[in-house]
Amino acid sequence: MTLTVFDCTMCGQCCQGQGGIVVSPMEQLRLAEFLHISVAEFCALYTIPQGNKIILCTREDEYCIFFDPQKACTVHPAKPDVCRAWPFFRGNLVDQTSWELAQDYCSGIKAQAGHEEFARQGLRYLVDNALAKKNDNLEATALQVEDLVDKN
Ligand code: SF4
Ligand code: SF4
Repeated sequence: MTLTVFDCTMCGQCCQGQGGIVVSPMEQLRLAEFLHISVAEFCALYTIPQGNKIILCTREDEYCIFFDPQKACTVHPAKPDVCRAWPFFRGNLVDQTSWELAQDYCSGIKAQAGHEEFARQGLRYLVDNALAKKNDNLEATALQVEDLVDKN
């Protein structure tokens, strides 16, 4: 599927910020295998708990611990699902104002495509890439969109 509502400019903005990158147990395993370490080591080195979820650590500059200014994401093949899914987060799919605000942050979102088309393509993208999650306390809330899929 060719997206006309989003084209990443590789600005790196979405790799900065505290506490947004949830890693589910499956993603912890994927990242640990990619890094050739155990899940326990991975969690100890690169994550912290946040409520009932596990999130990636950030550095002092608030960039993700896996972000390199020269190479961008150093774990790209195994990166968490929220990183694969942005900007098609639930809030941006269901709420036009969130989508408009996201444009200030993410230069890849094409405003001219309109919110309705963004939501349509975004939901299809999540489904096609196995990123549409059920309600699950260990998954990122932003990806819990299966109820939206059911309506379409
Ligand atoms: S903020 Fe948007 S345009 Fe920038 S790297 Fe992230 S997804 Fe790409
Ligand atoms: S895992 Fe990679 S894509 Fe995700 S926030 Fe960290 S550096 Fe960015």
